[in-house]
Amino acid sequence: MRNTDVVIVGGGFAGSLAAAMLGNADVAAILVDPHAVYPEDFRCEKLDGAQVEILRKTGLAEAVLRATTPDRESWVARFGCVVDRRPGDQHGIFYAPLVNTLRGQIPKDVTQIFSKATALATGADRQRVTLSNGEEISARLIVLANGLNVGLRNMLGLSSELLSECHSISIGFDAKPMGRREFAFPALTYYADRTSDRAALLTLFPIGTIMRANLFVYRAANDPWLRQFVAAPREILVALMPGLRKLMGDFEIAGPVKIRPVDLYATRNYRRDGIVLVGDAFATSCPAAGTGARKALTDVERLCNVHIPGWLATPGMGAEKIAAFYDDPVKQDCDKFSLEKAFALRSFSVDPGLRWRAHRWAKFLAQYAIGTLRRRRERLTSGVGPQPSVPAATRAET
Ligand SMILES: Cc1cc2nc3c(=O)[nH]c(=O)nc-3n(C[C@H](O)[C@H](O)[C@H](O)COP(=O)(O)OP(=O)(O)OC[C@H]3O[C@@H](n4cnc5c(N)ncnc54)[C@H](O)[C@@H]3O)c2cc1C
Repeated sequence: MRNTDVVIVGGGFAGSLAAAMLGNADVAAILVDPHAVYPEDFRCEKLDGAQVEILRKTGLAEAVLRATTPDRESWVARFGCVVDRRPGDQHGIFYAPLVNTLRGQIPKDVTQIFSKATALATGADRQRVTLSNGEEISARLIVLANGLNVGLRNMLGLSSELLSECHSISIGFDAKPMGRREFAFPALTYYADRTSDRAALLTLFPIGTIMRANLFVYRAANDPWLRQFVAAPREILVALMPGLRKLMGDFEIAGPVKIRPVDLYATRNYRRDGIVLVGDAFATSCPAAGTGARKALTDVERLCNVHIPGWLATPGMGAEKIAAFYDDPVKQDCDKFSLEKAFALRSFSVDPGLRWRAHRWAKFLAQYAIGTLRRRRERLTSGVGPQPSVPAATRAET
């Protein structure tokens, strides 16, 4: 039986971050995950400015940012027209290198065991984790960061509430300019033109020398459109967003097309002795809204910077103590924001009703106004620059 203060079950983004933070704070911890090296996985592929701000509070920002590709500037477009060119704050990185970079920051004092947790026993004082390799770990606290795997949660009697089945579908691929070295834009966010397109947006951003694309759509998981997309990605993309041709010029889609539907669910009756849930193990998020990494970062930052040091300083690990994490206003605000944004973006993208139509026009005009002001300011300070262009005639439905 190994003994420690904290055992982290799951070494994805949340678990690896927690292991690195606790290790750096000299907390005795063990990380359990089946993979010695996190395998290739289609998940979060960039961190935005708000996420980087939280990352800075973990002490790991420098190492992570070194492994990313920052975009210099991000264009925002609709109807084939650029409405804003905002300063870049996105950092592109594939998910496996992101997690493995965090793993690389875990101090040697933190034992990493490459095995699967098969059973958990929790109590007000000590917890027990049984592994598939036959080992057992005794700890004061279990941090459950095992993502989408509900097996251990079910075993403990924690239920999952399905909030929205196949809420959105993420499609990932590489885009390559043809006949020239690079695209005109450093990064681009292109909002879908019509609600009938059942799409939120396409985002193009650099990872190394690759222009990576994430397209988010709202369709059934068995929609034949998805098969058509895999068969002829470029043609289907241009049919979906005709204005892209003008911005992207000739291009091809290189490499495999990855498609991943996401359900929104939340774990219920999680207030238990000895165990705390973080990241996707607590609740999933909509990739189109781009809040999953922020949720995982907020959970782990609050847990490791604020709550765990206090919990370990006093005896016991009862549910009433752990409640302070779930009741943390910063965590609660983040979870609320993530859930609200998931549903709002969906309505914004697909709801043809008057309220959302007005919302779409308001956002479009606001982006255009911000873009115009930004350009004017830039022209005043650094000479003449190009103007964002609004279409002469936009299509009636937005
Ligand atoms: C297609 C897609 C695109 C996304 N895009 C974005 C985006 O653009 N922006 C954004 O902010 N978020 C995005 N997200 C969400 C984000 O990727 C997730 O919220 C985040 O990765 C969750 O991290 P996690 O550590 O909670 O889970 P995971 O990274 O899934 O980690 C879970 C870990 O637990 C381990 N594990 C499972 N079972 C066991 C067990 N029994 N014992 C031990 N270990 C176990 C697994 O091996 C894994 O390492 C996206 C998600 C998807 C699916």
